[in-house]
Amino acid sequence: MALSENKPRILLVEDEEALATLVTYNLEAEGFVVEQAAHGDDADLMLIENPPDLLILDWMLPGVSGIEICRRLRAREQTKTLPVIMLTARGQEDERVRGLSTGADDYIVKPFSVPELVARIRALLRRSKPERVADQLIAGDLVLDRETRRIHRAGREIDLGPTEFRLLEHLMEKPGRVYTRAQLLDAIWGMSAEIDERTVDVHVGRLRKELTTGREIDPIRTVRGAGYGFDDAYGK
Ligand code: CA
Repeated sequence: MALSENKPRILLVEDEEALATLVTYNLEAEGFVVEQAAHGDDADLMLIENPPDLLILDWMLPGVSGIEICRRLRAREQTKTLPVIMLTARGQEDERVRGLSTGADDYIVKPFSVPELVARIRALLRRSKPERVADQLIAGDLVLDRETRRIHRAGREIDLGPTEFRLLEHLMEKPGRVYTRAQLLDAIWGMSAEIDERTVDVHVGRLRKELTTGREIDPIRTVRGAGYGFDDAYGK
């Protein structure tokens, strides 16, 4: 079983197959996880079921149009602030204006250079998800350092296995958010993993044991019938 790394997930909605393949290849080489949709209806559904960290959206699509997809995702709580880059053809000035007024954050005109697209993506991700690019995640006396892969609590170093490290990192990225076991399996072990959900309990158990010694407060919350989360009240 391969551990899925902490890579930003991008959904690329583009019906020109050659362009979609080229962009996907290059973005994956830059360290992004890319999912594709070539039809507006598929994109709409994917945005509801499993929203990415950033959306690249072609305007002219079969099925639901780019503008309509953008309008709908902005109306949903889960994707209200999702970063969106629209792809437009040269000469579609009106579309661009409409796109930006519908809620796209940025646009790029075809044909574009991949480095330019990557720069736009990174800029948007930095603005929207600073925790994705932060070197350290800090909550109270707990510090997780991504650069050195070390964790300290009140100055004491905590030695975690790779799965527990990734689990803590994932939970600390969104304090207060509760994840189901299935969501954690997806995020930590990857979509294709065929692992029993109880595996999550085992690793959360190990993580807790390493994090808390003596009477230290447990920063991990168990929400009955729901799952696990990092206590947003911890350290406050
Ligand atoms: Ca198109």
